[in-house]
Amino acid sequence: MSQPATGPTAPPRRAVVRCAVCSTPNRIDLGKLSQGPRCAKCRRPILLDRPIKASEADFDQSLQGTSVPVLVDFYADWCGPCHMMAPMLDEFAARHAGAVLVLKLDTEVNPKVATRFAIRGIPTLIVFQDGTERGRHVGVADLKTLETLTGVPTA
Ligand SMILES: [Zn+2]
Repeated sequence: MSQPATGPTAPPRRAVVRCAVCSTPNRIDLGKLSQGPRCAKCRRPILLDRPIKASEADFDQSLQGTSVPVLVDFYADWCGPCHMMAPMLDEFAARHAGAVLVLKLDTEVNPKVATRFAIRGIPTLIVFQDGTERGRHVGVADLKTLETLTGVPTA
């Protein structure tokens, strides 16, 4: 009597992300993305089909409260290669919304987090599962590399 993994008994996929407008951390049910999640405080839509800016204040909360893989782009505004790979990251987030949470962390604004994860070159992409680092890639990564790194099924 085995249950299908995608049946009604499958565990809910959760993510904690901060609202881009008011910065309130929100708990999101990734199984209900089609219903258009909204911020509990300001009621603006929370859009998961693009990278979400994270900060020191909510980074750990996102890592711990998210049940799907979390891909974090450690970047800086002055970094040319980071700008080069931004469209790839955008496309990855759009393709795998709900399956992977994609965060962007500005290493200039959030140096403590960058130090904690020993970020030496940017961009650095790190995949976390249940708060633990599962893989990393240093340098520009294309869509295929991001998919391999996060382990999502490729189209
Ligand atoms: Zn809000």
